[in-house]
Amino acid sequence: MYDLIIIGAGPAGLTAAIYAGRFRLNTLMLEKMSVGGQIITSPDIENFPGFPGGISTGELIEKFKQQVDDLGLRIEPEEAIEIIPDKNNYLLKTGSNSYETRTIIVASGAEPKRLGVKGEERFIGRGVSYCGTCDAPLFKEKAVVVIGGGDRAIEEALFLARYAAKVTVIHRRNSLRTSKILEEKARQNQKINFILESTVEEIFGDKKVENVKIKNVSSGAFNILACDGVFVFVGIKPNTDFLNNILHLDPSSFIITDQDLATSRKGIFACGDALKKSLYQVINACAEGALAADSAHKYILGQ
Ligand code: NAP
Repeated sequence: MYDLIIIGAGPAGLTAAIYAGRFRLNTLMLEKMSVGGQIITSPDIENFPGFPGGISTGELIEKFKQQVDDLGLRIEPEEAIEIIPDKNNYLLKTGSNSYETRTIIVASGAEPKRLGVKGEERFIGRGVSYCGTCDAPLFKEKAVVVIGGGDRAIEEALFLARYAAKVTVIHRRNSLRTSKILEEKARQNQKINFILESTVEEIFGDKKVENVKIKNVSSGAFNILACDGVFVFVGIKPNTDFLNNILHLDPSSFIITDQDLATSRKGIFACGDALKKSLYQVINACAEGALAADSAHKYILGQ
């Protein structure tokens, strides 16, 4: 019987693990992909306090993991597939094991949303990508399109511009959603240009991406733009399918919690990008990890 199982080893889950380790809770962490979560697909983090000039996300996550390892916590490479309430405790099933636990912290994060246009699925891995940091070197001296106007789109456009010959950001509104500092950097970059008030309607090609069809949303006019890659950054979708509706979720499947990060089930807490909240940043994911671990600890003390 574990005191706590943390699902997900992104910044929120890793911070929860550091706090749980220091409370000396008997804790298990599960991570289905790689330690670090979604942020590992961003090249650098510039707004995490304590690192003037920024830090590579790989290096930051390595430091988090070192702190978890130093506390002797186990991270198992398993995917949580079901949580079954069992009296005051929970049975947590993965593909290969069943674990009993008194409390759970859901830190399962989110993944990129699909755009949902014709050609997108067909060309995944053949020009369509959701990770500039992973795939930018494949587009050296090529022309790429970035779809979206948020932080992720502009950060990734800047990273892609280190490799590609030309980066075209296509955004559906006439102003970007990203922070002004990122927008300024992108506007100053000679390789980056913007097509605003426009949507990508279809992705074409023979064996790989060759063109996108663009619609100007104010005039209704269509255009074809030649490109070798299409990078989609149109928001995130929480990884909450495995919860199978045992927790209260919002209509987009983000987890609803109270101010102490307690979910609708006693003993289950949540933190990070799987939460319904107003700010999706590493800094508050970490703060939520700390709070969720503290709430789980207090719950166990009161049990
Ligand atoms: P986001 O901030 O939600 O931005 C998504 C962008 O995609 C928006 O510009 C949105 O347009 C556009 N969009 C959504 N659906 C679309 C569609 N069907 N067709 C065309 N465009 C569409 O998401 P994100 O950039 O992926 O970032 C996710 C979260 O992580 C955000 O909260 C972000 O702040 C955070 N993040 C932070 C950092 C950082 O601080 N360094 C880095 C990366 C991510 P509208 O603007 O018109 O809605």
